Amino acid sequence: MEQALEMMLQQKFGKSIQDASKEEIYTALLYVTKEKMQGMKRNEGNRKLYYISAEFLIGKLLSNNLINLGLFEETREVLEKHGHSLTEIEEIELEPSLGNGGLGRLAACFLDSIATLGLEGDGVGLNYHDGLFLQKFHDNKQQEEKNPWITADSWLNKTDVSFEVPFKDFTLTSTMYDIDVPGYNSGCNKLHLFDIDTIDESIIHDGIQFDKEDIRKNLTLFLYPDDSDEKGQLLRIYQQYFMVSNAAQLILKEAEAKGINLYHLHEHVCIQINDTHPTMVIPELIRLLTARGFNIDTAIDVVRKTCAYTNHTILAEALEKWPIYYLEKVVPHLLPIIRELDARVRRDFHDERVYIIDKQDRVHMAHIDIHYGYAVNGVAALHTEILKESELKPFYDIYPAKFNNKTNGITFRRWLVHCNHSLAEYLKELIGPGYMENADELEKLLAYKDDEAVLGKLKEIKKNAKVELKNYLKMTQNVDIDENGVFDIQIKRLHEYKRQQMNALYAIYKYKEIKKGNLPKRPITMIFGAKAAPAYTIAKDIIHLLLCLQQLIDNDPQVSPYLKLVMVENYNVTKAEKLIPACDISEQISLASKEASGTGNMKFMLNGAVTLGTEDGANVEIHQLVGDENIYIFGEKSENVIKLYETNGYCSADIYDNDPMVEELVDFIISKDLIRIGDPVNLGRLYKELVSKDWFMTLLDVKDYIKTKEQMLEDYEDETAWAKKMLVNIAKAGFFSSDRTIAEYNRDIWHL
Ligand SMILES: *Cc1c(COP(=O)(O)O)cnc(C)c1O
Repeated sequence: MEQALEMMLQQKFGKSIQDASKEEIYTALLYVTKEKMQGMKRNEGNRKLYYISAEFLIGKLLSNNLINLGLFEETREVLEKHGHSLTEIEEIELEPSLGNGGLGRLAACFLDSIATLGLEGDGVGLNYHDGLFLQKFHDNKQQEEKNPWITADSWLNKTDVSFEVPFKDFTLTSTMYDIDVPGYNSGCNKLHLFDIDTIDESIIHDGIQFDKEDIRKNLTLFLYPDDSDEKGQLLRIYQQYFMVSNAAQLILKEAEAKGINLYHLHEHVCIQINDTHPTMVIPELIRLLTARGFNIDTAIDVVRKTCAYTNHTILAEALEKWPIYYLEKVVPHLLPIIRELDARVRRDFHDERVYIIDKQDRVHMAHIDIHYGYAVNGVAALHTEILKESELKPFYDIYPAKFNNKTNGITFRRWLVHCNHSLAEYLKELIGPGYMENADELEKLLAYKDDEAVLGKLKEIKKNAKVELKNYLKMTQNVDIDENGVFDIQIKRLHEYKRQQMNALYAIYKYKEIKKGNLPKRPITMIFGAKAAPAYTIAKDIIHLLLCLQQLIDNDPQVSPYLKLVMVENYNVTKAEKLIPACDISEQISLASKEASGTGNMKFMLNGAVTLGTEDGANVEIHQLVGDENIYIFGEKSENVIKLYETNGYCSADIYDNDPMVEELVDFIISKDLIRIGDPVNLGRLYKELVSKDWFMTLLDVKDYIKTKEQMLEDYEDETAWAKKMLVNIAKAGFFSSDRTIAEYNRDIWHL
């Protein structure tokens, strides 16, 4: 590495490692790494996977690529020898902002594991120039700014692959960019990101506003721009069709280049549809095959044997239903096919719940996937059961064999080896390096459950991570936190079902307790990180409440030595990597039945945090693995929640009116103390939402939540017992390696 880096620095900048700036070293490392990846062998198999996803939240790539190439240690040492640190060099890299949250991060973990397992599988998506958005806080409110991440020297490689994508009124010419995806000790795959050459960033004004109708200039500007109006929704359809038409043309081109008879396409290709955003790949492939002379029956048959669908949510508002009228405006050439697909469903099944086109002339994208794909999977055991028993029951009754569960996972290369290097090294010392490729070996740790020295070392590593986070927050946001406090962290997208508002009510509870003189045994540091969708009003109101509470507590000398609330700006993968190793209490408090899986919960567990959670998503499986002793579960169970929805049996006003403690906490949102700091419109709206609707049942669970968290804080004081919980959580995290998830996808669905 040293020699390669020296040569690259000479070639690019005429400098030695000694004299080069951080920027120059970063750039040279980027090119050295790119050259090494170019020289890797490509993974190959009998059948090739195309993982199509509107999001790939890949995070910074330098360290991860170095780890997978086996060059990480060596590079660290070389840099250190010359007075540089890899951590500082990494700061130069901009994080590609190509995803919202869990779904996009999952796609990124999957690419890592697919390559690591030596499977031939490429990602296909879009090259959004300004990503999601950059979050800034102003006047205790979220502001959105553009987030340009593509620089002259980047991981993107421009290819000469290009396709014509037809829309109703015009045709666009695409350009394909590739990012190499190296496996850990294995071969290489690619992430293909499609783009157009006519994108014009100068049309962005006032944050992230732009002309939504100028498709030639805006198509790949942003990920899911504000779709609260018709123009925004039409743009999403343009994006989705552009993505899948390129994917379909790429798949056919590669198949033809390999000499594959397209009548046997399914034997050589499989397509994973990540949520419904890529669903139009089904009618598009049928269209392209019929254009090549297939009759419609055969085209449908081949496509059905090629495509598989992953469902990520049961939230009704997240299941895409496009009005036919929108599709007619953008992709009229797909409509005859979609109508034919619907006609076949109506012919075979006399149940309007499974029709593709409903009475209101809307196209149910998930229904296309389920009828015209060969597999449907949920992303955690509970989620898949709920799909089968309620949300998708009519489909399960028709196609029981298509349904299967694939509990999500995370790549340990990024979420342990990279983000918590000292823990990874210590584990290697204790149980050997095998766990990096065979995650179940983490269970060997259980042998040290009562070993004081090991428990002491785990505590020390946690403490060091807290100090690092303290320094990072001081540097980036100029806030001070106390490393001796308990670090209680909730980081995830802001959504009512994830219930950041319930955690805010805890902060209010604790604030009031401290004012009364009931002081906690040690400082409590509550950390939040969350972006709200730009058009999601109540989510933004919750951010406002959290920021107002932060200010209130900071300015109260009676409270601030004991309680700290910090909202981390612009939560993203880079921030997650800094926060997770430092966490004691992992907040996973969604309303039971609403979080499909969660993957944040897995990252925290792997890094020795203890979960405070509901029986929801993969928390259920974490609970089963670690046992009652090593997790804190509270709240209503999912069956009961589902019943409450079915019977309209929940009324938040009843709880508010009859429980003085709940009333006091909720009232504080519109108290003089907070109104003085915040905006009465936002706080008033949130208050009203909680007392008159509370769709995600915050008030139902808040008291049990507070009680359980208090118990947890008390238990934290028994340091040895707590360290044991940390150890068991790490030891049992092996199941949540995305290598396991991908091995299951391959065994049951892909057969690569
Ligand atoms: C893991 C991750 C998520 C998903 O978090 P959940 O708690 O599972 O919702 C979201 N955003 C980022 C940046 C992540 O790394």
